[in-house]
Amino acid sequence: MSLVIDDVVVRHDPGANAVPVLFDSPHSGTRYPADFHFVCPLPLLRQAEDAHVDDLFARAPDFGATLICALFPRSYIDVNRAADDIDPAMLDGVWPGPLAPTEKSRAGMGLVRHVCRPGLPMYDGRLPVATVIDRIDRYWRPYHELLAECLDRLHGRFGVVYHVNCHSMPSLPRGPYEPPVDFVVGDRDGTTCDPAFARLVAETLRGMGYTVRFNDPYKGVELVRRYASPFAGRHSLQLEIDRRLYMNEETLERTDGYEELRLSLQRLIRTVCDYAAERVRPLQAAE
Ligand SMILES: [Zn+2]
Repeated sequence: MSLVIDDVVVRHDPGANAVPVLFDSPHSGTRYPADFHFVCPLPLLRQAEDAHVDDLFARAPDFGATLICALFPRSYIDVNRAADDIDPAMLDGVWPGPLAPTEKSRAGMGLVRHVCRPGLPMYDGRLPVATVIDRIDRYWRPYHELLAECLDRLHGRFGVVYHVNCHSMPSLPRGPYEPPVDFVVGDRDGTTCDPAFARLVAETLRGMGYTVRFNDPYKGVELVRRYASPFAGRHSLQLEIDRRLYMNEETLERTDGYEELRLSLQRLIRTVCDYAAERVRPLQAAE
């Protein structure tokens, strides 16, 4: 069964075999809203998408997991940023409350981006405050509400929940004799999940021949920080996949490696779901 909030987010539910696992893909959306008046070239802007990540995890519900995918592009508003991570210098007007801009928004890559890439502006001027508030209300908030509600429901039913926040990354720079980094597992330096869960994900991928790094250079941002509480049984981690494994980074076209990666991720999904099923608290499971 699927729930769709028009052009914002879609949730795919498992059947009778539900386990306390949720995958979310916040950056793979491709529905560019009609009021998104960017002035940079669309093909360049589209390179910000974590293209195809929703499809790579599409079979997660078959293994008992819930899957949530954003339908809008992250360049319109980024749900993986706090709602106050805004650079006031990009606004036309005064924000009605406190702001907490991070390094990301100062670099133009905060909640609402204002550069397509360094030195290339996205808009022909400052953005009206009302535009940013509208994007928060109509896109950022429904995504977070749906994610929070699903995590709460799974945690309430099973006593534990494992959340994998799924992304893809441009290939990391490397030295001439260094192997490429295929995956980066981020748990904000060991604070957002049981270390055993992060190890399970990394070791499963390594067992299939991939190289995996922890927290370098991607530790996880708002979507793992906000919902993680490992001592309360709420485990979140971020998974970054090297785009080189499955697509042309400029055209976003799938490459010959796509199918192999998709099948590898299916094995990872199955392993994570089995792991979570063994950790369901018996009292809740007997309900
Ligand atoms: Zn991403």
